[in-house]
Amino acid sequence: MAQSATLSFKWHDRFRHLAGLDQYFAMARGKDGIPALEMTKWFDTNYHYLVPEIAADAKPEANFADFLATVQRSQALLGERAVPIILSPVTLLRLSRLEGDLATHLENLLPLYRDLLDQLKAVGITEVQVHEPILVTSNAADLREAIAATYSQLAQIGVPIQLVTYFDDLGATYPWVMELPVAGISLDFTRGRNLALLQQHGFPSDKQLGVGIVDARNIWKIRPDSVLSTLETIQSITPNIRLHPSSSLQFVPYDATRETKLPEPLRNVLSFAQQKLDEIAILAQTLAGNDPSVRQACAKHSQLALVQTQWQTFEQFSPADKGVQTALKNLTINDFQRSLSYSLRLDKQLTLPVLPTTTIGSFPQTSEVRQLRVKYKRGELSEAEYQAAIDAQIAECIKLQEDIGIDVLVHGEFERTDMVEYFGQQLSGFAFTENGWVQSYGSRYVRPPIIYGDVVRPQPMTVREFQVAQALTEKPVKGMLTGPITILNWSFPRADLSRQEQAFQIALALREEVVDLEAAGAQVIQVDEPALREGLPLKLERWNEYLSWAVDAFRLATAIAQPHTQVHTHMCYCEFGDIIKDIERLDADVISIENSRSNNRTLQEVTKAGYSQQIGNGVYDIHSPVVPTTEQLAQQLQTGIMNLPLRQIWVNPDCGLKTRRWEEVIPSLKNMVEAAKIIREEANATKE
Ligand code: GLN
Ligand code: ZN
Repeated sequence: MAQSATLSFKWHDRFRHLAGLDQYFAMARGKDGIPALEMTKWFDTNYHYLVPEIAADAKPEANFADFLATVQRSQALLGERAVPIILSPVTLLRLSRLEGDLATHLENLLPLYRDLLDQLKAVGITEVQVHEPILVTSNAADLREAIAATYSQLAQIGVPIQLVTYFDDLGATYPWVMELPVAGISLDFTRGRNLALLQQHGFPSDKQLGVGIVDARNIWKIRPDSVLSTLETIQSITPNIRLHPSSSLQFVPYDATRETKLPEPLRNVLSFAQQKLDEIAILAQTLAGNDPSVRQACAKHSQLALVQTQWQTFEQFSPADKGVQTALKNLTINDFQRSLSYSLRLDKQLTLPVLPTTTIGSFPQTSEVRQLRVKYKRGELSEAEYQAAIDAQIAECIKLQEDIGIDVLVHGEFERTDMVEYFGQQLSGFAFTENGWVQSYGSRYVRPPIIYGDVVRPQPMTVREFQVAQALTEKPVKGMLTGPITILNWSFPRADLSRQEQAFQIALALREEVVDLEAAGAQVIQVDEPALREGLPLKLERWNEYLSWAVDAFRLATAIAQPHTQVHTHMCYCEFGDIIKDIERLDADVISIENSRSNNRTLQEVTKAGYSQQIGNGVYDIHSPVVPTTEQLAQQLQTGIMNLPLRQIWVNPDCGLKTRRWEEVIPSLKNMVEAAKIIREEANATKE
């Protein structure tokens, strides 16, 4: 966020002794035992920011020099079209961790914002965008006063303000937001109910409506028919409009024309940032004619007609898959329900010691492993050579787990680059870009797969590696899958099919994999869903609807498992308190969770809710290189026992080990198994 460079608070005590870049890096990464600021997702996007911490006595200071220099550079290039963008102090404060109340901090901040507007006015700026995304969240109602105060103060400066919202609709705030003293208001017409709100309440004639009409969160070209009809409806209500993307373009990659390896019919309907800007320009030209009939005629001859044809060609290129469509249509309630309830299937599942030990799936992805993949891709290794090398890694990993004495083993996931990409590459309906990077945080970028067609599993995806691993040991090896919600939430979804239908299609593919893993001898199958919570809508009232189909998708993927198969799931960094009923409804036999960072809070929430299935409350934080001692681990387990009956507890790290080094993993797991033994013996002793 640009304004963090221009506003400096006296940050929380722990950073006060640092200055300049030193302070900046300490806030981002931590330093000498000072924990970093928490990082969290920007609304429901996959972009992460550092949560500002503002102490009660914080006296914000401003230095707008850099910001103004940037603005002046843009003016030199764009003249009057240069519009500075400012995050509203209300959204800034609401997203920060505050000591003291928001109103007081706002009072301190507003003079600085006024000062900024004054300076912008002085350099000749004629409009400022103030972004207020907090308005679309469920908790915006109580911000009415703060927001009214903010805009009445900022309006006094005399620079016209465009108030910009995105990611969802204004909901109940719509009527009073319309009354704010701003020159224009921008709404997102690609998500939520803003069109209905506009139809219901109208739009003030003294303001300009900013129409977020091109979806800046997906990678698809517009559908000209539906976009033009929405625009006509909007114009019939308020003629004074401007067009723009639904939000910032930072959530999509740069330029779709660079994806030269994708099939042309697909590439032609992709729209990354560059294409979205073109779309805005084309739409604006089309709208320039005032008479709707002229507009229709124009549209026919314009580039929009070309887009229409491109979509038609695409539909022929990626036709609906009849098999999947029929399977989805014929689903019955039984397909979502395991054949026996948890209490009845429990006895049929494998017998394990109390406090069984396991890991979450991946083992270190060393440069040696990554090198194998690079060589295979370059053709320097044949498929057989590559697989043999992966199998050697699996063998080592199995031997290590046996030596350490782990009860339920994993094959180590050496063949997987990424838990979503690996599955996407084996399913039809997914495409992968070469340059489609989007920022996740700092200098970290991800390249999400694109779901473009019906999802079909042409052949087993994980069975070979499972078999290799299981053949090497008497102990049970977990079949390891990524769940439908995580695959969906970490991809760019289709725009022509609901997210629910896409999740169900993926679930059907995974369901076939579950059957194949069982046939290959898997007694335990883990289906990871770390992204379940990420898909939650911004508005609380829509949570139920999402959770209902998301949990159903997981059930569709796993309910086919026979009663004697133990189904695990894993979630990291997931607060459960408010969705515990939905977690229960997943009906997994075992869930492993992050617990060590949240100080056992997750475990307490689970306990309070009376969770009856088994739970692996991650005993140590895999994101830290520190090797936990046996004592620390035993202590962590003790907490577990205090909260839940022994027979419900599993012992495992809190996430996969792929980012760690062997030197850290081996002693940590040894200590973990040792700690489990100590607690088992103590428990036995107290029983006698
Ligand atoms: N099975 C995956 C792994 O161990 C789970 C990763 C995750 O939860 N993010 O890497
Ligand atoms: Zn995890």
